[in-house]
Amino acid sequence: MLNILFSAKPAAWEEYQAPLLEAFAKVDLNVHLSRDHAPEDVDYIIFAPNGPVRDFRPYTRTKAVMGLWAGVETIVNNETLTQPLCRLVDDSLTDGMVEWVTGHTLRHHLGMDRHILGQDGVWRDDSFPPLAKDRPVTILGIGALGAACGQALHCLGFPVTAWSRSRKSLSNLRCLSGEDGLRAALTGAQIVILLLPQTPRTANILNADRLSLLARGAFIINPGRGPLIDDDALLAALDSGQVAHATLDVFRTEPLPADHPYWSHPHVTVTPHIASTTRPETAAEVIAGNILRGERGAPFLYQVDRTRGY
Ligand code: NAP
Repeated sequence: MLNILFSAKPAAWEEYQAPLLEAFAKVDLNVHLSRDHAPEDVDYIIFAPNGPVRDFRPYTRTKAVMGLWAGVETIVNNETLTQPLCRLVDDSLTDGMVEWVTGHTLRHHLGMDRHILGQDGVWRDDSFPPLAKDRPVTILGIGALGAACGQALHCLGFPVTAWSRSRKSLSNLRCLSGEDGLRAALTGAQIVILLLPQTPRTANILNADRLSLLARGAFIINPGRGPLIDDDALLAALDSGQVAHATLDVFRTEPLPADHPYWSHPHVTVTPHIASTTRPETAAEVIAGNILRGERGAPFLYQVDRTRGY
């Protein structure tokens, strides 16, 4: 019998308890899933940063911490956590992100606002949207989420450039890495999508210098993390017309304060960190499968590298 501690906000327990028990039963793992195990008895922790566990030192026999979130920036530097930490990679989380990213990309690509917001009785048939093949898109971060978004945008016809830390070769995508690769990826890009994790190396990665490389009137879509963007530089680029519109899902401070200039800027769309979310049924299967791997002596999937920070 494995003792599995569920440590997330109380409402998550209602959502996750039944799917987790079903997923463990499906893979024949005999578990005692609870929110109240004594720390020294816990084999695995299912963890969200908004749950009660902060100090991992009493969890002396815990074999791994299974995150319920994709982003790990709030836990990766916790010095009391010495056990393996796995982040969540889940098909539903990925599908949600693909749908959100393609939706907002198509909104800007097709200039949908012009007609949705401009129902003024005037018949303007003087311009047609360009084709996707003429709209270069760049994705910064080409991991689980960025790669899936890149493939979906490729299927719609967009030429997609993808930038990552390590060198990659992915079909359908122009893959770049390194500082030179970043400049090449941004130069002339008309739509930039940020799907990097928040680490010291990605902070303010989209700064004034790099925004100046984009095609004039480019669009920014950020479902990654708020600190990826230098906010003052983006506001200046929006005011000058270098950036035509920014769709932002994530912010340095969340909820975004009511007096933040993003709320009132005519060329910014704020969405409240809803680009995608973990779905209990699929997440439960991923976690049960990963614990099964551990019990069979196989390496855990999606293990976070603490030195890299993601
Ligand atoms: P992932 O699989 O870890 O991919 C991260 C990507 O970023 C990888 O391609 C990685 O490069 C690249 N990267 C990391 N540091 C870099 C650096 N310094 N320079 C260049 N590239 C770098 O993560 P994921 O699952 O795709 O998730 C990405 C992020 O999305 C999460 O960290 C989270 O912040 C965000 N997210 C947001 C929402 C939302 O609702 N808004 C939901 C889920 C996730 P390598 O491939 O070389 O490692």
